[in-house]
Amino acid sequence: VVFCFYADIEELIEMAIIVQKFGGTSVSSVERIRHVAEIVAKTKAFGYQCVVVVSAMGPSTDELIHLAYQMSNKPSAREMDMLLTAGEQMSMALLTMALQAKDLKARSLTGWQAGIQTDQIHGKARVQQIDITSISTCLERDEIVVVAGFQGVTADGQITTLGRGGSDTSAVTLAAALSAELCEIYTDVAGVYTADPCVIPLARKIDEISYEEMLELAHLGAGVLHPRAIECALIHQVHLIVRSSFVDEPGTWIKEVHTMEKKLHVSGITHDLSVARMKVFDLPNREDTLTKLFTLLAEAYINVDMIVQSEYDQGQMDVAFSVAEEEGKLAQQVLEKAKEELEYDRLLLETGLAKVSAVGIGMMTHPGVAAKFFATLSEAGISIKMVSTSEIKISCLMERELALQAVWQLHTAFGLDVKFYTAESVGPPLRGEGT
Ligand code: ADP
Ligand code: ASP
Ligand code: MG
Repeated sequence: VVFCFYADIEELIEMAIIVQKFGGTSVSSVERIRHVAEIVAKTKAFGYQCVVVVSAMGPSTDELIHLAYQMSNKPSAREMDMLLTAGEQMSMALLTMALQAKDLKARSLTGWQAGIQTDQIHGKARVQQIDITSISTCLERDEIVVVAGFQGVTADGQITTLGRGGSDTSAVTLAAALSAELCEIYTDVAGVYTADPCVIPLARKIDEISYEEMLELAHLGAGVLHPRAIECALIHQVHLIVRSSFVDEPGTWIKEVHTMEKKLHVSGITHDLSVARMKVFDLPNREDTLTKLFTLLAEAYINVDMIVQSEYDQGQMDVAFSVAEEEGKLAQQVLEKAKEELEYDRLLLETGLAKVSAVGIGMMTHPGVAAKFFATLSEAGISIKMVSTSEIKISCLMERELALQAVWQLHTAFGLDVKFYTAESVGPPLRGEGT
Protein backbone atom coordinates (compact mmCIF):
# COMPACT_ATOMS: atom_id res chain seq x y z
CA VAL A 1 0.00 0.00 0.00
CA VAL A 2 1.29 3.45 -0.88
CA PHE A 3 -0.02 6.44 1.01
CA CYS A 4 -0.31 9.96 -0.39
CA PHE A 5 0.18 12.17 2.61
CA TYR A 6 -1.65 15.42 2.97
CA ALA A 7 0.81 18.30 3.30
CA ASP A 8 2.11 18.48 6.87
CA ILE A 9 -0.58 16.34 8.38
CA GLU A 10 1.39 16.17 11.62
CA GLU A 11 1.08 19.91 12.10
CA LEU A 12 -2.44 20.09 10.81
CA ILE A 13 -3.89 17.50 13.11
CA GLU A 14 -2.62 18.00 16.57
CA MET A 15 -4.90 15.60 18.35
CA ALA A 16 -4.23 11.89 18.01
CA ILE A 17 -6.32 10.02 15.47
CA ILE A 18 -8.12 6.82 16.34
CA VAL A 19 -9.72 4.51 13.77
CA GLN A 20 -12.69 2.53 15.10
CA LYS A 21 -14.24 -0.22 12.98
CA PHE A 22 -17.67 -1.66 13.70
CA GLY A 23 -18.62 -4.98 12.10
CA GLY A 24 -22.00 -6.16 10.86
CA THR A 25 -23.44 -7.34 14.19
CA SER A 26 -22.36 -4.08 15.85
CA VAL A 27 -24.53 -2.06 13.42
CA SER A 28 -27.31 -4.60 12.87
CA SER A 29 -30.22 -2.42 14.07
CA VAL A 30 -31.21 1.13 14.91
CA GLU A 31 -30.49 0.40 18.60
CA ARG A 32 -27.05 -1.05 17.86
CA ILE A 33 -26.16 1.95 15.64
CA ARG A 34 -27.23 4.31 18.46
CA HIS A 35 -24.99 2.35 20.79
CA VAL A 36 -22.08 2.69 18.35
CA ALA A 37 -22.73 6.45 18.24
CA GLU A 38 -22.46 6.38 22.04
CA ILE A 39 -19.04 4.66 21.90
CA VAL A 40 -17.77 7.10 19.24
CA ALA A 41 -19.10 10.10 21.17
CA LYS A 42 -17.21 8.97 24.29
CA THR A 43 -14.00 8.56 22.29
CA LYS A 44 -14.44 12.02 20.80
CA ALA A 45 -15.12 13.50 24.26
CA PHE A 46 -11.84 11.90 25.35
CA GLY A 47 -10.07 14.17 22.88
CA TYR A 48 -9.44 11.91 19.90
CA GLN A 49 -10.02 12.71 16.24
CA CYS A 50 -12.30 9.86 15.19
CA VAL A 51 -12.36 8.04 11.88
CA VAL A 52 -15.05 5.36 12.01
CA VAL A 53 -15.28 2.49 9.53
CA VAL A 54 -18.55 0.58 9.27
CA SER A 55 -19.67 -2.72 7.76
CA ALA A 56 -23.09 -3.41 6.29
CA MET A 57 -25.95 -3.98 8.77
CA GLY A 58 -26.12 -7.54 10.11
CA PRO A 59 -26.61 -10.10 7.36
CA SER A 60 -27.34 -7.52 4.66
CA THR A 61 -24.33 -8.41 2.48
CA ASP A 62 -25.58 -12.02 2.36
CA GLU A 63 -29.07 -10.78 1.53
CA LEU A 64 -27.77 -8.64 -1.32
CA ILE A 65 -25.83 -11.62 -2.70
CA HIS A 66 -29.01 -13.68 -2.51
CA LEU A 67 -30.89 -10.97 -4.45
CA ALA A 68 -28.19 -10.93 -7.13
CA TYR A 69 -28.51 -14.68 -7.69
CA GLN A 70 -32.25 -14.28 -8.16
CA MET A 71 -31.49 -12.01 -11.12
CA SER A 72 -28.82 -14.14 -12.70
CA ASN A 73 -26.93 -17.32 -11.91
CA LYS A 74 -23.75 -15.62 -13.09
CA PRO A 75 -23.92 -11.97 -12.00
CA SER A 76 -21.04 -9.92 -13.36
CA ALA A 77 -18.33 -9.06 -10.86
CA ARG A 78 -18.62 -5.33 -11.60
CA GLU A 79 -22.36 -5.20 -10.92
CA MET A 80 -21.92 -7.36 -7.83
CA ASP A 81 -19.57 -4.73 -6.41
CA MET A 82 -22.02 -1.95 -7.31
CA LEU A 83 -24.69 -3.83 -5.39
CA LEU A 84 -22.70 -4.91 -2.32
CA THR A 85 -21.18 -1.49 -1.66
CA ALA A 86 -24.74 -0.23 -1.07
CA GLY A 87 -24.79 -2.20 2.21
CA GLU A 88 -21.93 -0.24 3.80
CA GLN A 89 -23.30 2.98 2.38
CA MET A 90 -26.52 2.51 4.38
CA SER A 91 -24.75 2.02 7.69
CA MET A 92 -22.34 4.92 7.17
CA ALA A 93 -25.22 7.37 6.56
CA LEU A 94 -27.31 6.02 9.45
CA LEU A 95 -24.42 6.19 11.92
CA THR A 96 -23.61 9.72 10.78
CA MET A 97 -27.24 10.72 11.37
CA ALA A 98 -27.11 9.14 14.84
CA LEU A 99 -23.96 11.17 15.63
CA GLN A 100 -25.52 14.36 14.29
CA ALA A 101 -28.60 13.68 16.43
CA LYS A 102 -26.24 13.87 19.41
CA ASP A 103 -25.13 17.33 18.24
CA LEU A 104 -21.78 16.04 17.05
CA LYS A 105 -20.23 17.21 13.80
CA ALA A 106 -20.00 14.18 11.54
CA ARG A 107 -19.77 13.39 7.84
CA SER A 108 -19.89 10.11 5.95
CA LEU A 109 -17.62 9.22 3.03
CA THR A 110 -17.84 6.32 0.60
CA GLY A 111 -14.64 4.42 -0.22
CA TRP A 112 -13.91 6.57 -3.26
CA GLN A 113 -14.68 9.82 -1.45
CA ALA A 114 -12.25 8.70 1.26
CA GLY A 115 -9.55 8.23 -1.41
CA ILE A 116 -9.22 4.45 -1.09
CA GLN A 117 -7.75 3.37 -4.42
CA THR A 118 -7.58 -0.32 -5.29
CA ASP A 119 -6.53 -2.58 -8.15
CA GLN A 120 -9.19 -3.77 -10.65
CA ILE A 121 -9.97 -7.23 -9.26
CA HIS A 122 -13.69 -6.92 -8.56
CA GLY A 123 -14.75 -8.92 -5.51
CA LYS A 124 -11.25 -9.19 -4.04
CA ALA A 125 -9.55 -5.90 -4.80
CA ARG A 126 -6.41 -4.88 -2.92
CA VAL A 127 -5.84 -1.38 -1.60
CA GLN A 128 -3.05 0.28 -3.58
CA GLN A 129 -2.98 3.77 -2.18
CA ILE A 130 -4.98 6.11 -0.01
CA ASP A 131 -5.27 9.81 -0.66
CA ILE A 132 -6.21 11.19 2.74
CA THR A 133 -6.97 14.72 1.55
CA SER A 134 -10.74 14.58 2.08
CA ILE A 135 -10.53 12.83 5.45
CA SER A 136 -7.93 15.35 6.61
CA THR A 137 -10.14 18.24 5.53
CA CYS A 138 -13.02 16.82 7.60
CA LEU A 139 -10.77 16.26 10.63
CA GLU A 140 -9.50 19.81 10.29
CA ARG A 141 -13.11 20.97 10.61
CA ASP A 142 -13.31 18.83 13.77
CA GLU A 143 -15.78 16.44 12.17
CA ILE A 144 -16.08 12.75 12.97
CA VAL A 145 -15.50 10.94 9.68
CA VAL A 146 -17.55 7.82 8.99
CA VAL A 147 -16.14 5.75 6.12
CA ALA A 148 -17.89 2.90 4.34
CA GLY A 149 -15.77 -0.22 4.85
CA PHE A 150 -15.07 -2.99 2.33
CA GLN A 151 -15.02 -0.67 -0.71
CA GLY A 152 -12.68 1.32 -2.89
CA VAL A 153 -12.27 2.64 -6.38
CA THR A 154 -9.92 1.83 -9.25
CA ALA A 155 -7.70 4.46 -10.86
CA ASP A 156 -10.28 4.71 -13.67
CA GLY A 157 -13.26 5.19 -11.37
CA GLN A 158 -14.73 1.69 -11.05
CA ILE A 159 -16.19 0.74 -7.65
CA THR A 160 -14.59 -2.35 -6.10
CA THR A 161 -14.94 -4.46 -2.94
CA LEU A 162 -12.10 -5.94 -0.90
CA GLY A 163 -13.43 -9.47 -0.33
CA ARG A 164 -15.69 -10.81 2.44
CA GLY A 165 -14.75 -9.40 5.81
CA GLY A 166 -12.79 -6.64 4.07
CA SER A 167 -13.90 -3.76 6.31
CA ASP A 168 -11.14 -4.75 8.75
CA THR A 169 -8.66 -4.08 5.96
CA SER A 170 -10.30 -0.72 5.19
CA ALA A 171 -9.84 0.23 8.85
CA VAL A 172 -6.21 -0.85 9.16
CA THR A 173 -5.11 0.68 5.85
CA LEU A 174 -6.76 3.96 6.88
CA ALA A 175 -5.09 3.79 10.30
CA ALA A 176 -1.72 3.32 8.59
CA ALA A 177 -2.34 6.13 6.09
CA LEU A 178 -3.44 8.54 8.82
CA SER A 179 -0.66 7.48 11.23
CA ALA A 180 -3.43 6.79 13.73
CA GLU A 181 -2.44 6.11 17.30
CA LEU A 182 -4.72 3.09 17.49
CA CYS A 183 -7.07 1.00 15.38
CA GLU A 184 -9.93 -0.59 17.33
CA ILE A 185 -11.88 -3.45 15.74
CA TYR A 186 -15.25 -3.70 17.50
CA THR A 187 -17.10 -6.97 17.05
CA ASP A 188 -19.56 -9.38 18.72
CA VAL A 189 -16.98 -11.24 20.86
CA ALA A 190 -14.70 -9.79 23.53
CA GLY A 191 -11.45 -10.36 21.64
CA VAL A 192 -9.40 -13.07 19.98
CA TYR A 193 -9.87 -16.44 21.67
CA THR A 194 -7.86 -19.68 21.72
CA ALA A 195 -10.59 -21.13 19.43
CA ASP A 196 -13.86 -19.78 18.02
CA PRO A 197 -15.79 -18.97 21.24
CA CYS A 198 -19.10 -19.52 19.46
CA VAL A 199 -18.10 -23.16 18.91
CA ILE A 200 -15.80 -23.97 21.82
CA PRO A 201 -17.32 -22.66 25.07
CA LEU A 202 -14.09 -23.41 26.94
CA ALA A 203 -12.07 -21.10 24.65
CA ARG A 204 -10.04 -18.51 26.51
CA LYS A 205 -9.60 -14.83 25.62
CA ILE A 206 -6.03 -13.96 24.66
CA ASP A 207 -4.78 -10.67 26.19
CA GLU A 208 -2.07 -10.04 23.63
CA ILE A 209 -0.82 -11.84 20.55
CA SER A 210 1.93 -11.20 18.01
CA TYR A 211 1.11 -10.09 14.47
CA GLU A 212 2.63 -13.30 13.09
CA GLU A 213 0.49 -15.64 15.19
CA MET A 214 -2.64 -13.61 14.52
CA LEU A 215 -1.89 -13.68 10.81
CA GLU A 216 -1.67 -17.49 10.86
CA LEU A 217 -4.84 -17.79 12.98
CA ALA A 218 -6.75 -15.54 10.58
CA HIS A 219 -5.46 -17.29 7.45
CA LEU A 220 -6.43 -20.63 8.94
CA GLY A 221 -10.02 -19.70 9.69
CA ALA A 222 -10.23 -17.47 12.80
CA GLY A 223 -12.79 -15.24 11.08
CA VAL A 224 -12.54 -12.51 13.70
CA LEU A 225 -10.03 -10.55 11.57
CA HIS A 226 -9.47 -10.30 7.82
CA PRO A 227 -5.95 -11.70 7.18
CA ARG A 228 -5.02 -8.79 4.91
CA ALA A 229 -5.80 -6.37 7.73
CA ILE A 230 -3.17 -8.05 9.90
CA GLU A 231 -0.67 -8.12 7.04
CA CYS A 232 -1.07 -4.35 6.70
CA ALA A 233 -0.92 -3.83 10.48
CA LEU A 234 2.35 -5.79 10.60
CA ILE A 235 3.96 -3.92 7.71
CA HIS A 236 2.99 -0.48 9.02
CA GLN A 237 3.16 -1.38 12.73
CA VAL A 238 -0.44 -0.31 13.35
CA HIS A 239 -1.49 -0.79 16.99
CA LEU A 240 -4.51 -3.01 16.73
CA ILE A 241 -7.05 -4.09 19.31
CA VAL A 242 -10.04 -6.43 18.90
CA ARG A 243 -12.85 -5.80 21.38
CA SER A 244 -16.58 -6.08 21.92
CA SER A 245 -19.11 -3.40 21.03
CA PHE A 246 -21.57 -5.16 23.35
CA VAL A 247 -19.64 -5.27 26.63
CA ASP A 248 -17.09 -2.73 27.80
CA GLU A 249 -14.08 -4.84 28.68
CA PRO A 250 -10.46 -5.00 27.56
CA GLY A 251 -10.01 -6.82 24.28
CA THR A 252 -7.00 -8.46 22.65
CA TRP A 253 -3.93 -6.46 21.65
CA ILE A 254 -2.24 -7.44 18.42
CA LYS A 255 1.32 -6.14 18.45
CA GLU A 256 4.98 -7.08 18.67
CA VAL A 257 5.11 -9.35 21.70
CA HIS A 258 8.40 -9.33 23.56
CA THR A 259 7.80 -11.94 26.25
CA MET A 260 11.10 -13.61 27.10
CA GLU A 261 9.70 -17.15 27.12
CA LYS A 262 6.29 -18.29 26.03
CA LYS A 263 4.61 -20.70 28.41
CA LEU A 264 2.26 -22.17 25.83
CA HIS A 265 3.56 -23.98 22.77
CA VAL A 266 0.24 -23.59 21.00
CA SER A 267 -1.71 -20.31 21.16
CA GLY A 268 -4.87 -21.30 19.37
CA ILE A 269 -6.81 -23.90 17.39
CA THR A 270 -8.68 -22.84 14.27
CA HIS A 271 -11.05 -24.46 11.85
CA ASP A 272 -12.22 -23.71 8.35
CA LEU A 273 -15.33 -25.65 7.42
CA SER A 274 -15.42 -25.00 3.70
CA VAL A 275 -12.52 -26.64 1.99
CA ALA A 276 -12.39 -28.73 -1.17
CA ARG A 277 -9.68 -31.06 -2.44
CA MET A 278 -8.86 -31.54 -6.10
CA LYS A 279 -6.96 -34.60 -7.26
CA VAL A 280 -5.32 -34.66 -10.66
CA PHE A 281 -4.33 -38.18 -11.77
CA ASP A 282 -1.61 -39.37 -14.12
CA LEU A 283 0.17 -36.16 -15.03
CA PRO A 284 3.45 -36.42 -16.94
CA ASN A 285 6.30 -36.28 -14.43
CA ARG A 286 8.19 -33.38 -16.07
CA GLU A 287 9.84 -30.29 -14.58
CA ASP A 288 7.32 -27.88 -16.05
CA THR A 289 4.11 -29.76 -15.16
CA LEU A 290 3.59 -28.18 -11.74
CA THR A 291 4.51 -24.74 -13.06
CA LYS A 292 1.89 -25.01 -15.82
CA LEU A 293 -0.81 -26.34 -13.51
CA PHE A 294 -0.39 -23.76 -10.75
CA THR A 295 0.12 -20.88 -13.19
CA LEU A 296 -3.27 -21.66 -14.75
CA LEU A 297 -4.89 -21.59 -11.31
CA ALA A 298 -3.10 -18.37 -10.32
CA GLU A 299 -4.23 -16.69 -13.54
CA ALA A 300 -7.82 -17.45 -12.50
CA TYR A 301 -7.05 -15.85 -9.06
CA ILE A 302 -7.56 -19.18 -7.29
CA ASN A 303 -5.65 -19.47 -4.02
CA VAL A 304 -4.21 -22.94 -3.61
CA ASP A 305 -3.48 -24.04 -0.07
CA MET A 306 -2.06 -27.52 0.66
CA ILE A 307 -0.30 -29.42 -2.12
CA VAL A 308 0.73 -33.07 -2.23
CA GLN A 309 2.57 -34.63 -5.16
CA SER A 310 3.16 -38.37 -5.54
CA GLU A 311 5.41 -39.76 -8.26
CA TYR A 312 5.38 -43.23 -9.82
CA ASP A 313 8.19 -45.08 -11.55
CA GLN A 314 6.61 -44.91 -15.00
CA GLY A 315 7.19 -41.15 -15.42
CA GLN A 316 3.71 -40.28 -14.16
CA MET A 317 2.53 -38.45 -11.05
CA ASP A 318 -0.61 -37.49 -9.17
CA VAL A 319 -1.13 -34.05 -7.63
CA ALA A 320 -3.68 -33.17 -4.98
CA PHE A 321 -4.34 -29.68 -3.65
CA SER A 322 -6.86 -27.93 -1.46
CA VAL A 323 -8.77 -24.74 -2.22
CA ALA A 324 -11.65 -22.83 -0.61
CA GLU A 325 -14.82 -24.80 -1.30
CA GLU A 326 -16.36 -21.88 -3.18
CA GLU A 327 -13.43 -21.93 -5.62
CA GLY A 328 -13.55 -25.71 -6.19
CA LYS A 329 -15.86 -25.57 -9.20
CA LEU A 330 -13.84 -22.82 -10.84
CA ALA A 331 -10.61 -24.79 -10.31
CA GLN A 332 -12.29 -27.78 -11.91
CA GLN A 333 -13.39 -25.74 -14.94
CA VAL A 334 -9.93 -24.24 -15.38
CA LEU A 335 -8.26 -27.66 -15.32
CA GLU A 336 -10.88 -29.31 -17.53
CA LYS A 337 -10.28 -26.65 -20.18
CA ALA A 338 -6.54 -27.33 -20.01
CA LYS A 339 -6.77 -31.15 -20.14
CA GLU A 340 -4.80 -31.45 -23.37
CA GLU A 341 -2.17 -28.95 -22.38
CA LEU A 342 -1.61 -30.61 -18.99
CA GLU A 343 -1.88 -34.17 -20.37
CA TYR A 344 -3.51 -35.65 -17.28
CA ASP A 345 -5.86 -38.62 -17.21
CA ARG A 346 -8.69 -37.56 -14.88
CA LEU A 347 -9.77 -35.12 -12.14
CA LEU A 348 -11.62 -35.64 -8.87
CA LEU A 349 -13.15 -32.79 -6.85
CA GLU A 350 -14.00 -33.66 -3.23
CA THR A 351 -16.12 -31.17 -1.27
CA GLY A 352 -17.42 -31.24 2.30
CA LEU A 353 -13.97 -31.09 3.87
CA ALA A 354 -12.54 -28.98 6.67
CA LYS A 355 -9.13 -27.81 7.80
CA VAL A 356 -8.16 -27.84 11.47
CA SER A 357 -4.94 -26.16 12.61
CA ALA A 358 -2.85 -25.49 15.69
CA VAL A 359 -0.90 -22.21 15.75
CA GLY A 360 1.83 -21.02 18.09
CA ILE A 361 5.21 -19.32 17.98
CA GLY A 362 6.24 -21.62 20.84
CA MET A 363 6.19 -24.57 18.45
CA MET A 364 9.38 -23.35 16.74
CA THR A 365 11.49 -24.23 19.75
CA HIS A 366 9.48 -27.00 21.40
CA PRO A 367 9.66 -30.39 19.77
CA GLY A 368 6.77 -32.80 20.11
CA VAL A 369 3.90 -30.51 19.10
CA ALA A 370 3.30 -32.40 15.84
CA ALA A 371 3.48 -35.75 17.66
CA LYS A 372 0.87 -34.59 20.18
CA PHE A 373 -1.32 -33.15 17.41
CA PHE A 374 -1.41 -36.43 15.47
CA ALA A 375 -1.71 -38.59 18.60
CA THR A 376 -4.73 -36.57 19.78
CA LEU A 377 -6.50 -36.96 16.45
CA SER A 378 -5.70 -40.64 16.13
CA GLU A 379 -6.94 -41.37 19.68
CA ALA A 380 -10.19 -39.63 18.70
CA GLY A 381 -10.41 -41.89 15.62
CA ILE A 382 -10.14 -38.93 13.23
CA SER A 383 -8.40 -39.74 9.98
CA ILE A 384 -6.38 -37.12 8.16
CA LYS A 385 -6.46 -36.50 4.41
CA MET A 386 -3.65 -33.97 3.98
CA VAL A 387 -1.15 -32.19 6.19
CA SER A 388 0.78 -28.96 5.90
CA THR A 389 3.12 -27.28 8.34
CA SER A 390 5.07 -24.08 8.78
CA GLU A 391 7.36 -23.00 11.60
CA ILE A 392 4.38 -21.86 13.65
CA LYS A 393 1.45 -24.02 12.52
CA ILE A 394 0.27 -27.55 11.77
CA SER A 395 -2.85 -27.95 9.61
CA CYS A 396 -4.71 -31.00 8.47
CA LEU A 397 -7.62 -31.73 6.21
CA MET A 398 -10.46 -34.01 7.32
CA GLU A 399 -14.15 -34.78 6.78
CA ARG A 400 -16.21 -31.74 7.76
CA GLU A 401 -18.33 -33.66 10.28
CA LEU A 402 -15.25 -34.48 12.33
CA ALA A 403 -13.76 -30.98 12.46
CA LEU A 404 -15.43 -29.57 15.56
CA GLN A 405 -14.65 -32.68 17.56
CA ALA A 406 -11.03 -32.34 16.43
CA VAL A 407 -10.90 -28.67 17.51
CA TRP A 408 -12.35 -29.54 20.87
CA GLN A 409 -9.93 -32.45 21.48
CA LEU A 410 -6.88 -30.43 20.41
CA HIS A 411 -7.95 -27.44 22.50
CA THR A 412 -8.03 -29.66 25.58
CA ALA A 413 -4.86 -31.60 24.68
CA PHE A 414 -2.80 -28.41 24.32
CA GLY A 415 -3.99 -27.09 27.70
CA LEU A 416 -6.02 -24.19 26.30
CA ASP A 417 -9.36 -24.83 28.06
CA VAL A 418 -10.46 -22.10 30.44
CA LYS A 419 -10.53 -23.35 34.00
CA PHE A 420 -13.99 -22.68 35.39
CA TYR A 421 -13.53 -24.36 38.72
CA THR A 422 -10.49 -22.67 40.22
CA ALA A 423 -10.38 -22.56 44.02
CA GLU A 424 -10.57 -18.74 43.96
CA SER A 425 -13.59 -18.48 41.68
CA VAL A 426 -16.07 -21.01 42.97
CA GLY A 427 -14.26 -23.10 45.56
CA PRO A 428 -14.18 -26.87 45.65
CA PRO A 429 -17.49 -28.70 45.19
CA LEU A 430 -19.08 -29.52 48.56
CA ARG A 431 -18.76 -33.12 49.55
CA GLY A 432 -22.03 -34.94 49.26
CA GLU A 433 -23.48 -32.25 47.01
CA GLY A 434 -26.19 -33.55 44.74
CA THR A 435 -26.68 -36.77 46.64
P1 ADP B 1 -17.78 -8.62 12.37
O1 ADP B 1 -19.11 -8.63 11.74
O2 ADP B 1 -17.72 -7.77 13.60
O3 ADP B 1 -16.67 -8.34 11.41
P2 ADP B 1 -17.11 -11.43 12.26
O4 ADP B 1 -18.27 -12.34 12.22
O5 ADP B 1 -16.39 -11.15 11.00
O6 ADP B 1 -17.58 -10.08 12.95
O7 ADP B 1 -16.04 -11.95 13.34
C1 ADP B 1 -16.43 -12.25 14.66
C2 ADP B 1 -16.66 -13.75 14.79
O8 ADP B 1 -15.42 -14.43 14.59
C3 ADP B 1 -17.08 -14.21 16.17
O9 ADP B 1 -18.48 -14.14 16.33
C4 ADP B 1 -16.55 -15.62 16.25
O10 ADP B 1 -17.56 -16.59 16.07
C5 ADP B 1 -15.58 -15.74 15.08
N1 ADP B 1 -14.29 -16.31 15.46
C6 ADP B 1 -13.69 -17.36 14.84
N2 ADP B 1 -12.55 -17.68 15.43
C7 ADP B 1 -12.38 -16.81 16.46
C8 ADP B 1 -11.38 -16.63 17.45
N3 ADP B 1 -10.29 -17.43 17.51
N4 ADP B 1 -11.54 -15.66 18.37
C9 ADP B 1 -12.63 -14.85 18.33
N5 ADP B 1 -13.62 -14.97 17.42
C10 ADP B 1 -13.51 -15.93 16.49
N1 ASP C 1 -20.06 -6.42 4.62
C1 ASP C 1 -18.92 -7.17 4.13
C2 ASP C 1 -19.10 -8.65 4.41
O1 ASP C 1 -20.12 -9.04 4.97
C3 ASP C 1 -17.61 -6.66 4.64
C4 ASP C 1 -17.40 -6.77 6.13
O2 ASP C 1 -18.34 -7.00 6.90
O3 ASP C 1 -16.26 -6.62 6.56
O4 ASP C 1 -18.25 -9.42 4.07
MG1 MG D 1 -15.50 -9.48 10.12
